[in-house]
Amino acid sequence: MNFSSKLLENAVNEVSQLPGIGRRTALRLVLHLLRRPNEQTHQLASALNEMVDSIKNCKKCHNISDVELCEICASNNRNEEIVCVVEDIRDVMAIESTAQFKGVYHVLGGKISPMEGVGPQNLTIESLVGKAKSGSIKEVIFALSSTMEGDTTNFYIYRQLEGLGVTMSTIARGISVGDELEYADEVTLGRSIINRIPFENSLQN
Ligand SMILES: [Zn+2]
Repeated sequence: MNFSSKLLENAVNEVSQLPGIGRRTALRLVLHLLRRPNEQTHQLASALNEMVDSIKNCKKCHNISDVELCEICASNNRNEEIVCVVEDIRDVMAIESTAQFKGVYHVLGGKISPMEGVGPQNLTIESLVGKAKSGSIKEVIFALSSTMEGDTTNFYIYRQLEGLGVTMSTIARGISVGDELEYADEVTLGRSIINRIPFENSLQN
């Protein structure tokens, strides 16, 4: 691409680093930003700046939050003894939208994936094990996507929590293998949480 403006080229370079955005798409987006009122683009830039500078992770469940303790962990209406283990905030949002789960979450921040260089130490597993050892958890519900990475992560955590007196279950899927949790419809997902099965049973399949 031959740019008549270095400023335009810089902006296109930045935007094209986003996932799924090639240079042509980046150029189209940047030209759109240029055409609309400057004020709107300033607002976009400051929303992004504020987000990266100020966002936090809940100190308890590790979900993305604006404050130290997220709304769910701070609520008096949630059962802290039932912990749903998920990969990231998208899963929390999907499960919350079902309104079927009254426990709390533990956000791992990813899945164990040797291919991508993600090991247990890169996730918040130690913090989960710590909670279990302190005796504050009665049940852990695994709600990771049923991919090989998801299964590996579930099994790793299962081995870490074995013998700590924690009941372990996994959401019953009406969802085909490899489907991401965030794409499951609310009714199916809600039902799969209510009809969760003992984790040991899922190992026999
Ligand atoms: Zn929290």
